[in-house]
Amino acid sequence: MLNNLILVLNCGSSSIKFSILNPNTEKKYLSGLVECLFLKKTYIKWEYLGVKYKKCVGSNISHEYALNFIFKEVLSKIENIYNNIIGIGHRVVHGGEKIKESILVNHEVIDLIKQAILFAPLHNPANLIGIKIVINQFPHLSKKNVAVFDTSFYQKMPKTSFLYAIPYIFYKKHHIRRYGAHGISHNYVSHVASVMLNKDFDSLNIITCHLGNGASISAIRNGVCVDTSMGLTPLEGLVMGTRSGDIDPSVIFFMYKKLGINIDKINHILTQESGLLGLSGVSSDFRYLEKNYLSNKQVKLSVDIFCYRLSKYISSYMCLMDKKLDSLVFTGGIGENVPLIRDITLSKLSIMGFKINIKKNILIKNGKSGLITIKNSIPVLVIPTNEELLIAKETIKIIS
Ligand code: ADP
Repeated sequence: MLNNLILVLNCGSSSIKFSILNPNTEKKYLSGLVECLFLKKTYIKWEYLGVKYKKCVGSNISHEYALNFIFKEVLSKIENIYNNIIGIGHRVVHGGEKIKESILVNHEVIDLIKQAILFAPLHNPANLIGIKIVINQFPHLSKKNVAVFDTSFYQKMPKTSFLYAIPYIFYKKHHIRRYGAHGISHNYVSHVASVMLNKDFDSLNIITCHLGNGASISAIRNGVCVDTSMGLTPLEGLVMGTRSGDIDPSVIFFMYKKLGINIDKINHILTQESGLLGLSGVSSDFRYLEKNYLSNKQVKLSVDIFCYRLSKYISSYMCLMDKKLDSLVFTGGIGENVPLIRDITLSKLSIMGFKINIKKNILIKNGKSGLITIKNSIPVLVIPTNEELLIAKETIKIIS
């Protein structure tokens, strides 16, 4: 039945993801992606009831144009779907310090999202464009737009986790602190884990690893996130596709002062040229890295460093728990699909109580979820993330 539908919109800096689903039945009717905004050719791909479509939208396409294209060329052509949308959920990357949970969009919320542009200069403006266009497109639903934030999952972290050891004034006056990212995904998989483990969320002690192009890890103690690896921006923490993750800040001074590299270029190096790509020298795509792990020394080194950093974070987060860890969870494109990194990482952690089931580990990928450890191990779960579903559930909860 096409009713109680929620439109979920995720406007990124150069892409737009959209989907329409019923959060109660969890059935997804439509999902789509517009890629390569502002480039030579922008494509839109979508899937409606299992049938896939692809079209070229044009060249140098803006968010506004692409969103209008989605409404005119996709949504309005699907019988009954348009009229059965009862709410819209917007993924918003940064809510600053004040927004602590998902919230109905109004002028005040829009102002707070604007204020947080400082910390997410590529994403928050795109999120705001999405909100504005949708309110124009669905005037009857103007009070049914909900903003779901990646940062809100981290709002209960203690100061001991979120403060940097720099003069306190930088936090007080300029709000420089760790905010975290990927919160919607960590939140979603930790709720699924509580169901799979048959444990109350409020007493759940788990560590969740979201490993995609961006990668982050969160520690959840008694249902509350107490630490995460991303910081003021998503550059801190684990080794990522093209981001360095943790480095000594002196590397930046060295590049600037001794090597004469300007600040914008250093930013580009650390965000676009580092991580797996920088170390391997060939690719950040794990489909390639996995295939060439044994034959290419540099690829092997990059993957080993990725797993080494991850295992260090996992073991340090285990110390944040007040009782035995209930589970470790892998999610994201790499976490869900690359048995190799789960194997290498867990083998480094055998002393902490992780023992992999090699067969299960190899079998669980491509959208499958399940346990990949043997009986006397701390359970390790693979759980495909579903951020759209969490956004849709939050949206219906708030608009009802
Ligand atoms: P994003 O952070 O952009 O959402 P994803 O979660 O989609 O990223 O993850 C992208 C990463 O996952 C890439 O490194 C990609 O190579 C890897 N990946 C996705 N699917 C597979 C697969 N089937 N096998 C190996 N690696 C995969």
